[in-house]
Amino acid sequence: MRQCDRCGREIGLRETSYHVWVWVVASMNEELDGRVDEDLDQAVSQVTERLGPLPADLVASEVYARRSYFVCPWCQERILANPLGK
Ligand SMILES: [Zn+2]
Repeated sequence: MRQCDRCGREIGLRETSYHVWVWVVASMNEELDGRVDEDLDQAVSQVTERLGPLPADLVASEVYARRSYFVCPWCQERILANPLGK
């Protein structure tokens, strides 16, 4: 049995559950703007290479972040209704 990452409720095996992916991309990087599919990883690599000696993971966290969460149906509805938590 899995647990909802948002509310902590246990999700039954027969219950529908959802993965939520959050991609945050710096809009000042033309190379990354609007690219939200698998070629985003390649674009991030190109940017980090171009920026040179800074640690790649530090640069990547400045321009691009991706998180994933596992949520219950109740939380899925609330996330879709208010994705920015306003
Ligand atoms: Zn939940």
